[in-house]
Amino acid sequence: MPSPTSPSSWRDAPIFGRIRLYQGDITRLDTEAIVNAANTSLLGGGGVDGAIHRAGGPAILEACRQIRARQGGCPPGEAVLTPGGRLPARYVIHTVGPVWQGGHKQEPELLARCYRNSLALAEEKQLESVAFPGISTGIYGYPKAEAAAIAVREARTFLAEHAFPATVVFVVFDEEARRFYEQALQT
Ligand code: ADP
Repeated sequence: MPSPTSPSSWRDAPIFGRIRLYQGDITRLDTEAIVNAANTSLLGGGGVDGAIHRAGGPAILEACRQIRARQGGCPPGEAVLTPGGRLPARYVIHTVGPVWQGGHKQEPELLARCYRNSLALAEEKQLESVAFPGISTGIYGYPKAEAAAIAVREARTFLAEHAFPATVVFVVFDEEARRFYEQALQT
């Protein structure tokens, strides 16, 4: 039996204002955009990045290569938009999180900018819904509780000032991450 935090659709996931908390695989979501925790090369990698490219097929990588040819990759804190290829989501927003180096190398500000810049792209395209994984909280080693607090703070601030995206979905893979988001969303 599915737990209340693993509904079949993100549309049924618990809601906190305009934010939903969904536990599962982001590559399956039919939000209008999903966000990728990319690296500066934009050429794919492990973790959620690898899963998105595998599920979405070569059209995403081709679009990333074109962006790379134009602007030479993507620095930490920035975001770029591509089509979603074969994903259920129409677009992928690729953002590059900071690598955790102890917290004194502007990691919190860079992570906040990932959320702000991704949301700004969604707003520019007037997207209804956008789903985020925990940027930087895998291979890049950002502490999960702090990262969840930043994600929630930035989404709330942005949503208070903009009509789009109408809904933000935070996607967590495991129970531990879910608890960190719940804590942040309940304060
Ligand atoms: P980073 O390099 O930015 O740390 P990772 O891809 O290693 O990115 O991990 C980012 C987060 O995404 C981690 O919390 C990881 O558990 C989660 N994750 C990995 N695969 C998926 C997936 N298919 N759907 C949702 N979240 C995922």
